[in-house]
Amino acid sequence: MPTIHRVHNFAAGPAVLPLPVLEEIQRDLIALPGVGMSILEISHRSKAFESILAQAEADVRALGQIPPQYRVLFLQGGASMQFSMVPMNLLGPGATADYIDTGSWSEKAIKEARKVGAVQVAASTKADHYTRVPAQTELTLSPGAAYVHLTSNNTIEGTQYQRLPDVGETPLVNDTSSDMFSRPIDVARHAVIYAGAQKNMGPAGLTIVIVREDMLERSRGRQATLPTMLSYAVHAENQSLYNTPPVFSVYALGLVMKWLLNQGGLGAIAAINERKAAKLYAEIDRTAFYRGTAEKSSRSLMNVTFRLPTEELERLFVKESTAAGLDGLKGHRSVGGMRASIYNAFPEEGIDALVAFMRDFEQKRG
Ligand code: PMP
Repeated sequence: MPTIHRVHNFAAGPAVLPLPVLEEIQRDLIALPGVGMSILEISHRSKAFESILAQAEADVRALGQIPPQYRVLFLQGGASMQFSMVPMNLLGPGATADYIDTGSWSEKAIKEARKVGAVQVAASTKADHYTRVPAQTELTLSPGAAYVHLTSNNTIEGTQYQRLPDVGETPLVNDTSSDMFSRPIDVARHAVIYAGAQKNMGPAGLTIVIVREDMLERSRGRQATLPTMLSYAVHAENQSLYNTPPVFSVYALGLVMKWLLNQGGLGAIAAINERKAAKLYAEIDRTAFYRGTAEKSSRSLMNVTFRLPTEELERLFVKESTAAGLDGLKGHRSVGGMRASIYNAFPEEGIDALVAFMRDFEQKRG
């Protein structure tokens, strides 16, 4: 067998997957043990897939310690589809939804919700170029709002809530696309949690939605006008098998869930993620050559964003780091600079390699 060379993949998503998961997929790709067909070939109505789906859900529930009054849905359309499904299912006529605006993805969620109903922006850090998430005291919540929507980790700007804001009795909807299952999550404080799988949980093509039963009631109330495929209630009643789900992505997510459980669960993963991020931020803070773009109290453990003294140096940094096997460090095109996405499966050796590269680069160019 030729030696396989893997670079360090700092991409924001789709992102690095655990090597043991890739190896298992490779081993079983031609024929699933006991099935004799590839996961790419089997019917979504087969016994084999039913059990893969049930096991994936059981493992999602175990990992997230999801209480029984929540349903776990395996959907498509990405987190972007949730920007529409959330208001279409939960925001009734005459009601208002509160949105906390902390970055490009919140903006997109707000834009879609406005097409459905009344939206109030409860807080925005746009004036600060989204370099932080708002403090509790900055929130202006509408009394009786249908829900409050927030983005727990801002993938592009590199900011993250360190704790959930208090929204009282109002249902909380959380876009956790870029930090789902990277640390313990208090599901009971939420009404809906959603996330695209392609950062911390698996390959692209699958979106996990965790929805409380009372929100399904709201969804049922809209059944007459809601397109069937956009109804939480329909997907819940059909165990995510109303239509053909992304069979391969569900299978791969199941393997990642097993890998996370084997790591010791979310507490253990959080400790590893904290240590990885701390190493990188320590290097950024060590010298004035690198400048972290997020305020320290809002720094993300998942997407570490930083700048260099000039755009010319930034271009060189991207070029030379790529050549050194550190891939995907260029920041999002809307903000520039660098971004190191270091999700669950990103190995600590990759952080050490980046820190070493940063020291070397500063010595040569600083
Ligand atoms: N929300 C956040 C926080 C994201 O990071 C992303 C994708 N990067 C999205 C939503 C959109 O996700 P998708 O591409 O799965 O629609």
